[in-house]
Amino acid sequence: MDCLFCKIAGGEIPSKFVYEDESVVAFRDINPQAPQHILIVPRKHIESINAFQVEDKDLVAHILVDVVLKLAKDLGIDESGYRVVINTGDEGGQTVHHLHVHLIGGRSMQWPPG
Ligand code: 5GP
Ligand code: ZN
Repeated sequence: MDCLFCKIAGGEIPSKFVYEDESVVAFRDINPQAPQHILIVPRKHIESINAFQVEDKDLVAHILVDVVLKLAKDLGIDESGYRVVINTGDEGGQTVHHLHVHLIGGRSMQWPPG
């Protein structure tokens, strides 16, 4: 499958991971929207939230409970605050069709989003 994030997660495109384990990798966004902008990507190809299966529940929990929290602490933004975003579909602004969680921080955010 010709998928950018499968290639990054699988090591086919060499990348510097800020975190990796058996089910996810995390790396810096190539076009950061804030001083800290990390993408957390499951190794499993899941196209979007719309493609979640029941068996993905543990993976989703792992990403939020373990990985987002650890990275927010490691990056020193857990106290100051941060944003966790999963863009989904065209109107959601999804451009890479392999599910990924944006962890964005290090500056004040606006609401509503653009
Ligand atoms: P989306 O718009 O799908 O939610 O987010 C895709 C993100 O992937 C964008 O923020 C974009 O900057 C980032 N991105 C696209 N290609 C690459 C790449 O080759 N390497 C890295 N590190 N990030 C990428
Ligand atoms: Zn993929």
